[in-house]
Amino acid sequence: MRLLIVEDDPSLGEALAAGLRQLGHVVDWFRNGGQADAALSSAPYDAVVLDLGLPGGDGMVWLGRWRSRALTLPVLILTARDSVEQRIAGLDAGADDYLVKPITIDELAARLRAMVRRSSGRAQAVWQHGDLEYDPATKLVHWKGANVELTGLEMTLLEALLKHPQRVLSKTHLQQMIYDWSGGDPASNSLEVHIHHLRRKIDPGIVRTVRGVGYALGSGESAP
Ligand code: CA
Repeated sequence: MRLLIVEDDPSLGEALAAGLRQLGHVVDWFRNGGQADAALSSAPYDAVVLDLGLPGGDGMVWLGRWRSRALTLPVLILTARDSVEQRIAGLDAGADDYLVKPITIDELAARLRAMVRRSSGRAQAVWQHGDLEYDPATKLVHWKGANVELTGLEMTLLEALLKHPQRVLSKTHLQQMIYDWSGGDPASNSLEVHIHHLRRKIDPGIVRTVRGVGYALGSGESAP
């Protein structure tokens, strides 16, 4: 998943970003809502982790702005504000989940998985597509029952395709899903290389090339 963290506390922000990256996520961390707002307008994210007490504008205000702009991506509030009234206000303002600090990375990651699962209309924890099975919690991939070893980047790419099994995703979109802002300028052919690896490791038909547009998930059955 590509995640956006808004947290002004340097040590907590650092720990959250590092912990989520270690679990295989692509993470951008910003210290105020303005930077996060700019990032949301320019890159696709799967979910946001939002602190409330932020310099230059409260998290509740930013959340309200995003929802009024019809931004539907899942938002998890992570805050020290622990009263029942504050929790209710956060959820009513459009948050999908509300966690009170301190938390563990494992719980945060599990809540994020659950949110993203719901937002993509899935009830099952394991994502199934034809003969392909992907478990976002354990990062295990199976093809026709056999385990497939993927690198972190290949996994993120596969997950992005699986999230929208009916859609053609542009090269730009996929590139943005697998590189965070610190990743520098990825070589222009590196996306093609990762797609090639997915086809070699899973099945040649697992990803379809849509000429001039981008890529789409294959049928989930072996290529003829
Ligand atoms: Ca704060």
